[in-house]
Amino acid sequence: MTTTANVTALSDRFRETFGAAPDGVWQAPGRVNLIGEHTDYNEGFVLPFAIDRTARVALRVRNDSTVRMLSTFGGHGMVEADLEGLEPGSGDGWSRYPLGVAWALQERGITVPGFDLLLDSDVPLGAGLSSSHAIECAVISALNELTGADFGAEDLVLATQQAENIFVGAPTGIMDQSASLRGAKGHAVFLDCRDQHVELVPFDAEASDLVLLVIDTKVSHSHADGGYASRRASCELGAEILGVKALRDVGVERLEEASGLLDETTLKRVRHVVTENDRVLQTVEVLGAQGPASIGPLLDASHVSMRDDFEISCPELDLAVDTAKANGSIGARMTGGGFGGSAIALTPVGLEQQVRDAVVRSFAEAGFTAPDIFTVTPAAGALRLS
Ligand code: ADP
Ligand code: MG
Repeated sequence: MTTTANVTALSDRFRETFGAAPDGVWQAPGRVNLIGEHTDYNEGFVLPFAIDRTARVALRVRNDSTVRMLSTFGGHGMVEADLEGLEPGSGDGWSRYPLGVAWALQERGITVPGFDLLLDSDVPLGAGLSSSHAIECAVISALNELTGADFGAEDLVLATQQAENIFVGAPTGIMDQSASLRGAKGHAVFLDCRDQHVELVPFDAEASDLVLLVIDTKVSHSHADGGYASRRASCELGAEILGVKALRDVGVERLEEASGLLDETTLKRVRHVVTENDRVLQTVEVLGAQGPASIGPLLDASHVSMRDDFEISCPELDLAVDTAKANGSIGARMTGGGFGGSAIALTPVGLEQQVRDAVVRSFAEAGFTAPDIFTVTPAAGALRLS
């Protein structure tokens, strides 16, 4: 939650640190993907939403090309860099995210001045909720305004992707920053990853007496991991053999034909993407026609597909999902890139505590690290706070 009090506190701390008031404070949220996993880079559909956990940056432009950055997150000191001669791969740790978006704006012909920046974030790190994009989207929103670049959301999405892909070196798609930049309170972001077409779909779990629980398994995921790259390679191979530009162009009706053309592993990967795309479309339809209480089976089917066909789950995620379901959640799935991170469980308000307790107990019994469990609600996308 962002209150006026903590915006003031951030500005005060900025002034103490850098000796002058910031030009402004911008915030951008993390995201949870309701459904549509590993469909983004297949030019398909996703349905994420911006969450009520955000990164906030107080920022002041300088007269030179120096960047000074500090995070309220413990264990990091002041980071200094120079925007002149900035190149992909420079910087380390979290400083790569602000530097990456500054570089991406430079690549678009924008003169980016040096700046002082103070970061405060309550998006959990590495939990699959895109704490990195929250930082990038907050910073690019600030720089977009302060440089007068005035790019629209679609350009900012692509600039942020370039920052992550080229500057940071993480091969991510456009889902996370689209949710963070284009999200809206009470809505999920139905995004066509081929052309960035967005429709805001009402998703008000609360009105249906439901909560969306996030279960952070604390198992670290890494996009640099070979698992992610090999999944992408399988998808590209599948598209090539099936003679389409991207798997988005393959409908469920072609899966039988595909089974005669693809090797077993490629078929499984393709089947996940093709059916997942279809589940996103179905979810949007069901949300509109019947509301959140009816999407449970689609969430469940998505998890099974990721576990068995795309093979990106892990024992902790499966246990979280199975335990939540056994204790009253109406639908549950891993969310994010996989191999760790978080699961989501759509749960009747009255059963929230039972699900929480059961998951904590099952993790203890299995000898897993205690999970972190919290609720999220669809919140506003990136905005200027002061
Ligand atoms: P995710 O985006 O899913 O949370 P990533 O590995 O992409 O995971 O990004 C996590 C990284 O973001 C952390 O390793 C850290 O470098 C950086 N980060 C996120 N939030 C903060 C913060 N408040 N302060 C400093 N660094 C942060
Ligand atoms: Mg990330």
